Order: sequence, then structure tokens, then C-alpha cells
Amino acid sequence: MSKAKILRNYIGGAWHTPAQAEYLDVVNPATAQVLARVPLSPPDEVALAVQAAEEAYPAWRRTPVEDRIQYLFRLKYLLDEHIDELSRLITEENGKTFKESKGEMKRAIENVEVAIGAPTLMQGGTNEDIARGIDEYMFRQPLGVTAVISPFNFPGMIPFWFLPYAVATGNTVIVKPSERTPMTMQRVMDLVEEAGFPKGVINLVNGAAETVNALLDHPAVKAVSFVGSTPVAKYIYAKAAQNGKRVLAQGGAKNPTVIMPDADMEMTIRILADSAFGNAGQRCLATALVIGVGEAHDIFAEGIVEAARTRKVGYGLEEGVQMGPVISPKAKARIEGLIAKGIEEGAKVLYDGRGAVIPGWENGYFLRPTVLDGIQVGSTIFETEIFGPVLGLMKVDTLDEALKIINGMRYGNMACIFTNNGGHARKFRYEVLSGNVGINIGVAAPMAFYPFSGWRESFFGTVHAQGQHAFEFYTQTKVVIERWLKEWSRKF
Ligand code: NAD
Repeated sequence: MSKAKILRNYIGGAWHTPAQAEYLDVVNPATAQVLARVPLSPPDEVALAVQAAEEAYPAWRRTPVEDRIQYLFRLKYLLDEHIDELSRLITEENGKTFKESKGEMKRAIENVEVAIGAPTLMQGGTNEDIARGIDEYMFRQPLGVTAVISPFNFPGMIPFWFLPYAVATGNTVIVKPSERTPMTMQRVMDLVEEAGFPKGVINLVNGAAETVNALLDHPAVKAVSFVGSTPVAKYIYAKAAQNGKRVLAQGGAKNPTVIMPDADMEMTIRILADSAFGNAGQRCLATALVIGVGEAHDIFAEGIVEAARTRKVGYGLEEGVQMGPVISPKAKARIEGLIAKGIEEGAKVLYDGRGAVIPGWENGYFLRPTVLDGIQVGSTIFETEIFGPVLGLMKVDTLDEALKIINGMRYGNMACIFTNNGGHARKFRYEVLSGNVGINIGVAAPMAFYPFSGWRESFFGTVHAQGQHAFEFYTQTKVVIERWLKEWSRKF
């Protein structure tokens, strides 16, 4: 029998084990060691969580917003206090380096800080005298029970793109983390409890597709926010909408970056090595394709190969490691298969990261950074989100050509340009079909007070995660038109 920790659900302010459930191993991808066993909660467990959230809702909604945010202040300080412990957990279950994990947790905390602005940010609006003696005003009211479904690659940050906003605005929430990286949110629930949130306001249900479907089918769940791959995002968007729920679904990505010949090449190479190979490429804002204009391509190719060759790959808890493993043997095999497919389709390998063996961590799911040149528009490797440390290169003659390629792509999560020419930068940001844009930036991740603005197949919905968009998502507007004393209607 495995001695791994058995994870539980957090429902109505208490830890709960499903009466009947299958369990999955949660595995450290650097060591292949089983860290925990996570329950795949069946629909009756989801129903318990929804019931707890429904019961907590009336009192929470009536709690003044100033009082609601006091719980978030306490949670923020607890997250600060426990940031190293939580970051370590992220590295253990996800594989990214400790520094990357800590950066992730800082972004999570930043969202709590922005949500604490609820007294201002959830205000409505007022007009006096829309007709003589008649006033019109708008409130923002919460929706009820909401659900958050998150992916494996940011187990600490992504639930916080939604959770703090949901509760700050008076909703109750059920978080369903990725079954592959569920330990971080398990620990966060201890802090939620310590922060003193009333029972049932924040709940955690572990599981996979069946658990998600139960949330999508439950009539009391009023809003669903999802982040994950595009096929699942599309499914969630359609199904939640069919069931009459408010839904936003952020999907996958394949992010292009243009390098102009006038770019600062030393800086560009350094920044793009981090963008492409950071988090082992398992980041929805990783640069996956570099389009070099003219000579920029050749200079960049030489520099990025050197950066790939010298990047220190290993266990993310070790000092100096710059890149960890990918999440699973299946992911590793898929990525290696896509590299092989790229070569078969005519791409040239400039640096091959397959077959990596990292001394001391031979059981881990490691690749080294990989660089492929001569990617063809329409090829598998051009079309497919690889979600690993693989960078494709293309060469074109003009910025217009680069823009044409980018604007023909499926996804629109991020597009970047490296240049020292303001005209090029302006043209790029104006014309590019992408919702997050970087100019001399490699990972254009919006701060918590801006929306995370995916476009095209990277996003299904109207408003996005974070900031003012999250306040919109978690509230419904109520407009009141009001007339009182008759004499106010007279002409003076
Ligand atoms: P995934 O789509 O496999 O899983 C995401 C969530 O959906 C998980 O909680 C999972 O349990 C659930 N799920 C999976 N299959 C399901 C199904 N058939 N029915 C219902 N629920 C299901 O994604 P992942 O592999 O965990 O994460 C990586 C993906 O997420 C990448 O495509 C990446 O680009 C994307 N991502 C996007 C953003 C963004 O903001 N756009 C951010 C991070 C990650």
C-alpha cells in the first residue's frame, strides 16, 4: 500500500472524503515519486459542495462589502506568510523551478489585492433626472454559486484569477483544481479556513472530467470560469451556455514573436530564452514561434542555440536550475513525437532536447530545450500547441509578411515584437490579432488590474479573468428607475 497522502475535499468549512471515488496518483515529475492520491469526486460529492455553497450564499451576499474584504486582507497576509511553503509545493507537483513558483504565487496574491478594491470596483452608476423627477441607477449584484476549473500549469495562480473576485462581490465559490496538480489548492484551503471565511463561502472539490460535468449540469451553479486547453474550453463554453450559465473559458495558445533587424539582439535572446523555455514551455504565454525578419533570424538562431545548450535543466528545488521537467511521461512522449513530426515535415534541428538524462534525476520527465528552424506555415508543428520547451523559427523579409503569418494563426493569446523602431512597434500592436501584446517583452502577462485578454481560439466568452473584467463577470446589473414626489415632476 502506498503511504502517499490522501487528498480530501473542503466542503462547508470541513474536510470531506467522498463516500465512493476512484483515486489518481499525484506525481512529482522530477523524481517520479508519488506525492499524494487525489479523489475523482463523483456527482453526489459535487452536489454536497453546491449545497454548502448555496446555503452560505444568502448570509454572505448580505455581508457588507467592507466586511467581506476583511477576510481577503487576512488571506493575503497568510499567503504572504506561507509563500515559500506554497511555492515549494508547486515545484514538487508541477516541476517548475522554485523561483518560477514564487513568481506564480506573487501573481496569485496580486489578484487578492485587486479584489480587495471591491467597494469601489463593484460600484454601479446613477443619473438624476433622466426625466423630470425621475432617477435611474444601477447596482451590481452577485450571481450565487460559482465554479472555477483550472489547469495543471499554474496550480497556485490561476484559481486566484477568479476566486478572490467571486467572493469579494458576494458570490460563493467551488474550486476544482487540476487533478494533476491539486496539492497547492489543498494547502490554500487551510489558509482560507485560518482567514476565517464563513463555512461554505469557499469550497474545494477534487476530480477530473466527471466532476466538471457534474458542476456544469448542476442547476444551482450560476457561473463557470475555466482555463485549460482549447478543445476542453470549447466544450465547457458550449455546455455551460446550454445549461443557462454565465461562462468564460480561456484556452490554449501558440504564441509568435517577431524580431526586427533593429532589435537589441543580446536582450532579445536572453528574454526569449526565458519565454520559450521557462516553465519548461508549459505556459500559455510561452513564445513558441520566432519570426525573424531578414538578418535578425540568423543572429537570433545562433544565440538561441547557445542559450538552449547552456540552460541548466534539473530539479526545480535545486539552486541554479533554470528549467524543470514536463508534467508527465505522456506529455514528454507527445512533445518528443511532435519534434519528430516537425523534422519529418522538413524542419531543421538546431538543438535537439530529446532523450535528456539529468544526472541524479534519471526518473524525471525531462527534455532539454529544443530549437527547430524552417517551420512551414500549415505544417503540424506550426499549427499545434506543443506545450513543451520547443521553439520553432521562421525567416521572412518584412514585418508585413510576419503579420500576415501571425494573423492567419488559430490562436490569439499573445504576440510580441522586438524592435527599437517606434513605427514598427505601433504598426504591430495596432494590426496584430492577439489580445495580449508584448513590445520588447517575452511574457506579456497582464497585471491583476488588467484583463488576461486572450483572443480567437484562446478564449471563449466576453469578459476575461482578472481586474475589472472579473468584477463584470461575477456581478449582474440591476437597473432601477425611480419616481417619488409628484411635485418634482412639475416644471419649475
Ligand atoms: P486541460 O484542458 O486538460 O484541463 C483543464 C481542466 O479541465 C482540468 O481541471 C481538467 O480536470 C478539466 N478537464 C480536462 N478534460 C476535461 C473534459 N473532457 N471535460 C471536462 N473537464 C475536463 O488543460 P491542462 O493540460 O491542465 O492545461 C494546459 C492547457 O491550458 C494548455 O492548452 C494551456 O495553453 C492552457 N492554458 C491557458 C491559459 C490561458 O489563460 N489561456 C492559462 C494556462 C493554461
